[in-house]
Amino acid sequence: MAEILKGKDVIASMKERMLKQVEELQSHGVTPCLAIVRLGAKADDLAYEKGAVKRCEGLGIKCVVMEYDESISQKELEDEIRKLNEDTGIHGILVFRPLPKHIDENAIKYVISPDKDVDCFSPVNVAKVFEGDDNGFAPCTPEAVMEMLEHYGVDVSGKRVVVIGRSLVVGKPLSMLLLRKNATVTICHTKTRDLGGTARTADILIAAAGKARMITKEFVSPGQIVIDVGINMDKDGNLCGDVDYDNVEKTVAMITPVPGGVGTVTTSILAKHVLAAAWRLSGVMGS
Ligand code: NAD
Repeated sequence: MAEILKGKDVIASMKERMLKQVEELQSHGVTPCLAIVRLGAKADDLAYEKGAVKRCEGLGIKCVVMEYDESISQKELEDEIRKLNEDTGIHGILVFRPLPKHIDENAIKYVISPDKDVDCFSPVNVAKVFEGDDNGFAPCTPEAVMEMLEHYGVDVSGKRVVVIGRSLVVGKPLSMLLLRKNATVTICHTKTRDLGGTARTADILIAAAGKARMITKEFVSPGQIVIDVGINMDKDGNLCGDVDYDNVEKTVAMITPVPGGVGTVTTSILAKHVLAAAWRLSGVMGS
């Protein structure tokens, strides 16, 4: 039986720290504020928005939802984001992606202020993750993985970590964050030969492939720590991760569940980033 690494314990300890920070900001007259930019009303966006607003407001972080019609023009959207960049009452900006096809996302990413870009959309923040510069904002999900490992006392230094997935949202930036903490990282993808053999050699196996329950017991070995980033629907419409939890859990030492694992910590990281942006932009020095 593996130790189950639950998101809720991580969230609770982060909440304690963040409530103190919000109180201190407020004592300096600063109310931290997140602007969420949403085009249309996609179910996935609405679900994440609901969770993000609940998490932030529960901490005393104000949220402003900027909802636009999906048909908004490139120029209008750029102008709206520039207004948010200039608004001193707003500290963090989250733009839901992917944007509609007629919008050039590659142009938008240069418009958002890197100082307010709390989910690593701007190339400036992407570069900082790859440079190992802690002054930027890493994407929330990879940072949630790091936060979970730290919370549960898993020191990645010198460990062999296998990351399955190389997207710019999860796999690549996560690999950089792990490398910064001195892990020995192997990145796997659809062209990797002998994925199972590679996965079995890991001390820590991280699945971020987006394939329901693909990590079966043939991919794991005793004593491993398995982190499941995947959020998928199985063929019966049930939410599940990339890991075949019921079978894998019997072999490994530690495992994150889905739901209730990494995904739940993501909005706490978002809140943490809004607070960091509020500290920096308001010029208030934290204690
Ligand atoms: P993506 O589709 O952009 O990338 C998937 C990556 O996995 C690709 O690099 C691909 O090469 C690799 N891959 C796919 N199938 C594979 C296979 N059979 N063998 C080896 N490699 C394979 O997905 P993403 O945006 O990186 O998301 C990955 C998963 O994480 C999805 O399930 C997504 O829903 C989830 N996710 C969760 C959160 C969260 O908050 N927990 C946030 C973002 C994404």
